Amino acid sequence: MKALLEGCRWVLSRFMDLSSEPYLQSIEGRYLRIVGIRCPLACAYCVSGAQKREVQAGALERLRRNLSPEPPPGNTAVLKPAIQTPETTRRILVGIKRTLADTPPEVPLELTADDLLEFDGILDVFALHVRYQRPLSVITPGLKLADLDFARACSAFPVRFTLTLPSSSSQVTDALLGRPGAHAAILEALTNLQRLSISFSLNTVITQDNVDGLAALARFVFEELGLSGFAMPMFYPEQTLLDTDPRAMRLYPSLARLNTQLEQIVDLCEGRDRRVTLIDVPICRLSDRVTNSDSIEWSFVSHTDSPTPSYRLGRCDTCRWDPECCHLSEPP
Ligand code: SF4
Repeated sequence: MKALLEGCRWVLSRFMDLSSEPYLQSIEGRYLRIVGIRCPLACAYCVSGAQKREVQAGALERLRRNLSPEPPPGNTAVLKPAIQTPETTRRILVGIKRTLADTPPEVPLELTADDLLEFDGILDVFALHVRYQRPLSVITPGLKLADLDFARACSAFPVRFTLTLPSSSSQVTDALLGRPGAHAAILEALTNLQRLSISFSLNTVITQDNVDGLAALARFVFEELGLSGFAMPMFYPEQTLLDTDPRAMRLYPSLARLNTQLEQIVDLCEGRDRRVTLIDVPICRLSDRVTNSDSIEWSFVSHTDSPTPSYRLGRCDTCRWDPECCHLSEPP
């Protein structure tokens, strides 16, 4: 039994990033992930969000306490970022270097972490990518780029960042990303990127909590930031997220409300060489004005982790949990 418990703890620690040191993990030979580097945000739509980590930590603590249903008050573990030491940083860099050296350039290899920029050796990672002639593209919450010195250090490399900005309203952004001050930090980061001429793009996850402000956000992106386009992936209720936080289902946005916003965005784009890329947005309930607009690009990613296998494009059914949504006919 003791061995079984130890085994369970080991398995959980692997899946829940409970290691005390960060380590490198290769996923399907395509992704190289630094495990244990935490993201400073707690996005409502992300399984890595900090609030969910607390829930997971509580579950682990119960297991550790011999399956007691509830740990004593005040004793619930909160997961901490893995401790980075010069030695762990060095070992991870050695692993990255070896992988880059052993992988032919034509094989796409993406380095990831919850927030890669929080890795102490990130500038060395950039240098390795340049040395092995690999593209440098980093998706990041970007808060660290609010530090001008750090942003300046990044500007020495041909790196392209992708940041998320869910709303032009600080209240909506902070609530959705689960961190007070996140909105201001992201804007500061964007200012630094522009000031230093570092290449970047923006994306915005469409959820029920920010859907009504998407046209205002587009106006901000075009007119204040001066970008000619950005991407909007739609929140998709993946099973791993719902297992961790069943309340996340409410984030699936109303398509009618989304359509209202998209029509306004088409008005902002047309005739002005502006473009929005919609990712995983079902087409069939959107108006012809939106679906026929040259300013909208469509991209679809297949979801194998779907709790709603009846998800489909091009057909409509009535949905119990959101009468305006016709695509998820079997809510969990
Ligand atoms: S920024 Fe990314 S990794 Fe961090 S909580 Fe949000 S979605 Fe998750």
